[in-house]
Amino acid sequence: MINLVLFGPPGSGKGTQSVKLQEKYQLMHVSTGDLFRMHMRENTKLGIEAKSYIEKGDLVPDAVTISMMNNKIENHPEAKGFIFDGFPRTAAQAEALDDFLNKKESPINKMIALEVDDLELVKRLLYRGKDSGRADDQDEGIIQNRIDVYNEKTLPVASYYDEQNKYIAVKGVGTIEEIFDRLCTVIDEIID
Ligand code: AMP
Repeated sequence: MINLVLFGPPGSGKGTQSVKLQEKYQLMHVSTGDLFRMHMRENTKLGIEAKSYIEKGDLVPDAVTISMMNNKIENHPEAKGFIFDGFPRTAAQAEALDDFLNKKESPINKMIALEVDDLELVKRLLYRGKDSGRADDQDEGIIQNRIDVYNEKTLPVASYYDEQNKYIAVKGVGTIEEIFDRLCTVIDEIID
């Protein structure tokens, strides 16, 4: 079992790279953003609650997010491991994930962070917003709020894993393949 957290600000390429990594390493990709969007499309109670936060670029409350993630893991006992994308995003989520995985004796092996500067992030998100249909990618104010929320609430999660010697950063600019190769180099070392 290998569990990875793919970390980085909105627009850093976590989703794109997770899809490629899932295929190469046969790990299950779990994106809390994708799960929330699925609930919103299906108009579930959770989706309706999440929408009010997501459309402003704020974080969905921890209790809702953590229980959604725990359910997802619990429902996939066949998984050989997980790539967590967009989770944990707060210190409380990181602690909850550790508790949950430690009980299963399959802790996080590594948090891999994609480093991209803010100007590049805004450019990428606005570009993605043209096709993705995501309202939160189309408004510069909402994008800026997501980046501010990341800096304030999510960045401390990197220190949390660093203290456990589980943090590594990778340059998140270049072609998709170049970034993918950098991630694979890190993951191959973990597996060896
Ligand atoms: P993403 O697709 O990862 O950019 O997430 C889209 C939005 O979903 C975020 O801006 C948050 O509003 C919400 N979201 C995703 N993951 C989390 C999380 N771990 N905790 C709280 N809110 C989240």
